[in-house]
Amino acid sequence: MSAFRADVLTLFPEMFPGTLGLSLAGEALKLGTWSLHTHDIRDHGLGKHRAVDDTPAGGGAGMVIRADVLAASIDSVVDAHDPRPRLLMSPRGKPLTQEMVREFSSGEGVIIICGRFEGVDERVIEARNLQEVSIGDYILSGGEPAALVLLDAIVRLLPGVMGKTESGEEESFENGLLEYPHYTRPREWEGRSIPEILLSGDHKKIAEWRRAESERITTLRRPDLIKKRS
Ligand code: SAH
Repeated sequence: MSAFRADVLTLFPEMFPGTLGLSLAGEALKLGTWSLHTHDIRDHGLGKHRAVDDTPAGGGAGMVIRADVLAASIDSVVDAHDPRPRLLMSPRGKPLTQEMVREFSSGEGVIIICGRFEGVDERVIEARNLQEVSIGDYILSGGEPAALVLLDAIVRLLPGVMGKTESGEEESFENGLLEYPHYTRPREWEGRSIPEILLSGDHKKIAEWRRAESERITTLRRPDLIKKRS
């Protein structure tokens, strides 16, 4: 199997690999488990100043990334047969979930487009079949931090990146619940002890306790997740 390939189109290629060059993702990058290719959208900018944006039709504040410029950048990176999803980071997009992350990580790679300013001309979204993805209900100044978040979540699921495979499966969201609490040594700390059951060695009881804690915490903090399960 060939390595997972990520192409990122951005006005700030210097922001990459950024956090992805360190720790788990960085090791995997060095090992060739995945590859990262950044492309400067400005290479396709117009005129002496390599302009990439223009004022919004209809008026209003800010600037919009031009369809022709962004399309030229996309076309220089992908062809029509490229099976990878073309993702546009956008607060209007489908909210990113662990389920989506799993799906992306099981494919051949992703193409990620980072917006800036007010966003991109709607026509390029339609014409190049871009799938809008949001990392949450708040506004960033650009798509780059969102792309770093998305790739971080994807890369840790690639085969061989995480130490133990099970350390992916029990995590928050993987079974529709938030994770149970963790403890480690020392056994007593500032007068607080580790729940007795976790020291009992009874694996069945421990699993039951963890399950119950997961449900309790999820009900308390994220009733929406409980509702989604039933
Ligand atoms: N005017 C836009 C916001 C533009 S923010 C609106 O109201 O919807 C500039 C760029 O940052 C966007 O084009 C997008 O690429 C990125 N961005 C901002 N918030 C984001 C989020 N929550 N998720 C993903 N990308 C985001």
